[in-house]
Amino acid sequence: MTDLAELFDHGSNERGSLLSARRMIVKIGSSLIVDAETGEIRGPWLETLIEDVVRIVARGQQVIIVTSGAVAVGSCHFNQLNRPLRIEEKQTAAAIGQVRLLLAYQNSFERQGLGLGQILLTRQDIDNQHRRHTVRSTLQRLLEIGAVPVINENDATATAENCFGDNDQLAAQVLQMANADLLILLSNVDGLFTEDPHLNPLARLVTEVGCISPEMEAMAAHSPARHSSGGMVTKLIAARIAMDAGCRMVIAKGNKPYPLTAIENGELSTWFVPFANDMGHPCLT
Ligand code: GLU
Repeated sequence: MTDLAELFDHGSNERGSLLSARRMIVKIGSSLIVDAETGEIRGPWLETLIEDVVRIVARGQQVIIVTSGAVAVGSCHFNQLNRPLRIEEKQTAAAIGQVRLLLAYQNSFERQGLGLGQILLTRQDIDNQHRRHTVRSTLQRLLEIGAVPVINENDATATAENCFGDNDQLAAQVLQMANADLLILLSNVDGLFTEDPHLNPLARLVTEVGCISPEMEAMAAHSPARHSSGGMVTKLIAARIAMDAGCRMVIAKGNKPYPLTAIENGELSTWFVPFANDMGHPCLT
């Protein structure tokens, strides 16, 4: 098997820094914000995340949050079903869960003296030029007045045929739409591995990717979705969107307190840095 680490890991994390970002998107996976056992929001952890955001905003950088968790929080109402939720049950769970999710964010932001504004997006808001323009203007105005935009898909109205389905891709679309320059995917994996680390203890974390290759995509396809809500496939799709837009992306495990500080301190993660931009070489995929 090709050693992906050797081929694609440039070995240096010097470009793997949050400090150079002007506007960043921070995507929070459901597994981080919701306790899988109880269905409760992990309030103390959220408080540390928002503390990180407050610190980053205070030094002059802009942050947009894309958060999952509405369905996970609301689905406790359907727990007795003991089977995957049907689409209409997911819509109902999201309608209930989104309120509780945003309330937790609101409380945390308020305690720390920062404002926030909620935007719930549908696929049409991204695909339709006029609606896209409206969303962009609202985002811009929120940032101008110092309120952090907190975004999720409008899962209560999303249908199976017409949804993003996962927030990795939604976050990448928001990155493009908002002209941001860094996408941070906080999930329950350290990053991209050369193989499934649950199957092969010798699997290595790839610390920097300059270009997404077919081998990486094939490897991600074999990595089961148990690693995160969207799995590695959706993360690589998001990375491709980000890199095509000339932006950097990082995948990091965010389950510990102060997850953004941890990235700044060099915690294990995978950075996607557009190779063509930095090195002047075309991306060979
Ligand atoms: N939008 C979904 C929610 O809030 C999450 C989608 C995902 O897990 O990526 O529950």
